[in-house]
Amino acid sequence: MTVLPRVFAIRYARSVAPKASYFYGSDPHEGDVPMDFFIWLIRVGSRTILVDAGFSEQTARRRSKELTADPLGVLSSLGASADLIDGVILTHLHYDHCGLISSFPNAQVWVQEKEMSFWTGRFASRRPLVAAIEPTDIATMVGLNFEGRLHFVDGDAEIVPGVSVHWVGGHSAGLQVVRVATDGGPTVLASDASHLYEQFELDRPSSVVQSLPEMLAAFDRLRELAGADGDIVPGHDPLVLSRYRPVPGLEGVAVELGPTLHSVPRPDS
Ligand SMILES: [Zn+2]
Repeated sequence: MTVLPRVFAIRYARSVAPKASYFYGSDPHEGDVPMDFFIWLIRVGSRTILVDAGFSEQTARRRSKELTADPLGVLSSLGASADLIDGVILTHLHYDHCGLISSFPNAQVWVQEKEMSFWTGRFASRRPLVAAIEPTDIATMVGLNFEGRLHFVDGDAEIVPGVSVHWVGGHSAGLQVVRVATDGGPTVLASDASHLYEQFELDRPSSVVQSLPEMLAAFDRLRELAGADGDIVPGHDPLVLSRYRPVPGLEGVAVELGPTLHSVPRPDS
């Protein structure tokens, strides 16, 4: 019998920011929007794979984000201590997605080739772009490459059966999304292809933009990857914690994703 993956969302930090700073072309009078910061854990057979790697305490302090949980501690509570993580998929290299990558000594790491090329290339240090990354994280990624632990993806790739990555670009040069074949259908981890439900539902892309047409095409790609029975999970939406079943003992921190959990009443239904 094929073992299908299970996927969990873990919220480790939050912030409140002007909506205009997250929505392309937004009116400054739209007020503030709360943002949650997540990592995602996939378990399939004997494999334990992390999607994205959060940020450090120092980065949280410097960027005025409130850490709400220790991501490594939560992973341990889920039976996935850092040394047991054997793979990390990085959706992209912005500071809130790869800051703890050096905490997983036994992990192979997957990233889009376009993303690595961009952040080791000509425009990486320019002011409007460099704000989204921590230069030390990029240096760590270069080191992982020389250790032979970095796997470059160009477009679509299956990481393990039931878990695949798909380049969408738009928000960053090499942003990829992750599709997980759960027992209820595909769950698509949108990461920053859609920070919030509102972005892909109302066609309102992020203001952090590499290519606006690519961001719009990414919304279409998310729907295509999810299909009629699938589920799209945005990268920073506080609603995620209330739409899925909490992990016992980790209420307000971790939920199990998957269309099979739609029987849990949604707050807006
Ligand atoms: Zn992000």
